[in-house]
Amino acid sequence: MSKLIKWLLAIILFASIVCEMPIISAKGETIIINTKSLNVRSGPGLTYPVTGSMKQGERTEVLATSGDWHEIRFGSGTGWVASWLVVSEEAKKLSPRTAISKVSALNIRTEPSLSAAVVGQMNAGEAAVMTGRQGEWASIVLNGVDGWVHTDYITEIQQSENGQAGTAVKPEVQNPEQFTVSVDALNVRKAPGLSSKKVGLIRKGESYAIEEVDGNWVRLALGKKSSGWVYSFHGTLSAKSTAGKTEVAADNKVTVLTNGTNLRSAATTSSAIVTRANAGEKLPVSGEEGEWYKVSLPSGETAFIAKWVVSTGDLAQVEHTPEKKKKARVPGTLKGLTIVVDAGHGGNDRGTTGMQGTDEKLLTLMTAELLSAKLKAAGANVVMTRESDTYISLRKRVSVSHQHGADAFISLHYDANPDTSITGFTTYYTHSHQRSLASSINDGLASTISLRNRGTQPANFLVLRENRQNAVLIELGFLSNPSEERVLTTEMFREQASHGIYQGLLEHFDGN
Ligand SMILES: [Zn+2]
Repeated sequence: MSKLIKWLLAIILFASIVCEMPIISAKGETIIINTKSLNVRSGPGLTYPVTGSMKQGERTEVLATSGDWHEIRFGSGTGWVASWLVVSEEAKKLSPRTAISKVSALNIRTEPSLSAAVVGQMNAGEAAVMTGRQGEWASIVLNGVDGWVHTDYITEIQQSENGQAGTAVKPEVQNPEQFTVSVDALNVRKAPGLSSKKVGLIRKGESYAIEEVDGNWVRLALGKKSSGWVYSFHGTLSAKSTAGKTEVAADNKVTVLTNGTNLRSAATTSSAIVTRANAGEKLPVSGEEGEWYKVSLPSGETAFIAKWVVSTGDLAQVEHTPEKKKKARVPGTLKGLTIVVDAGHGGNDRGTTGMQGTDEKLLTLMTAELLSAKLKAAGANVVMTRESDTYISLRKRVSVSHQHGADAFISLHYDANPDTSITGFTTYYTHSHQRSLASSINDGLASTISLRNRGTQPANFLVLRENRQNAVLIELGFLSNPSEERVLTTEMFREQASHGIYQGLLEHFDGN
């Protein structure tokens, strides 16, 4: 390993540990300073005076712990340091991480936000060094570009010591049958291993049948009697037959999410554009190729549409369901309505962490509990996606919404941004039919909380995109802003916020 690589790995290791998995260090444990210069304070909190500082890499023993602060020996006495800026020696032994894109043309952004500028893209199967994580965003470095990608579209894998992907498992495809190349050119080798002899070259967009899988290598059928091995992260693995293996709705149609979506002659972003489709258009699926659906056009021709720009849920149903229920409602109450309250994150997924150490996952749960109580009191049938600090997958949350035929699905989150001056609350929707609920709730919140109103915004969140029910996602202010964090962690704020959401719901259903 060259010095440079060693040095890079060390940085990645530090960064990935501090952002990805906050390790609670215990008394007696050795910790390592994990920031350029760390303030040592006279007490366990940011309000205590700074009595000195420690440098990155310095080691010290934990004498005691109070909240998110560690007491350490310092100078002739003791001092306190923030636990989120140190790493335990134990944790340091963990391996660095790699982010593999599940989709083609995954945008790399300057900040962990859908509104941030795009600085590059990742191809399906492409691997980037993962340097950290913030809420639903991962920071990565790819070909010298560093930026943020949304974690819905990547698979995180641990790397073993030699820098090769270790125990990686390809996302969501079991028993893959087909491999589609996602890099410009890919060497085919005689045996699984980078040192094995090259026996051929395959190109971007080409698909081959998989004959054998060995770790992260797949053997492809290249011709009648020839085959060879490729490294599986340079392409996408897919199941060949569509039956039972894809998530296309029962009517076997996909719905286009945005206006002007390209339909192409082949399953690659470099092929010719045949035509364009607009949001809401439903296209019958006749096949699949890698990360693309083959769809039939009204003209009788076929074309390819990327899987990441369509929804596979049957959205047509949404327009009809609420109407039946409307009659059962009593105006001025929420009687007869089913509301799914979704507390963001949970368990190992802590969400973002505030400057003072507030865990998003705990704050969302507390807010969800209060909101649920309010909605129940108003007569609603309330279902919570989680009632304790447990991990629930995004797809499971969506299926709870479907299972209960939610009249409204409300996902609660708290925001973060590396720019700590950013403040305010935002109400997100994905599909146009979710917009009116989003704007009612946003109005309700604006009338009860005093944060800056960032308005309603469209965004591609999985819990909204794949949701057949009316659904919104609310980011209730920024934990990354210290003074906003202080407001958000008060009971008063949760009280006002849940009251605002309740009023928005009432307004929405009474007005519809
Ligand atoms: Zn969140």
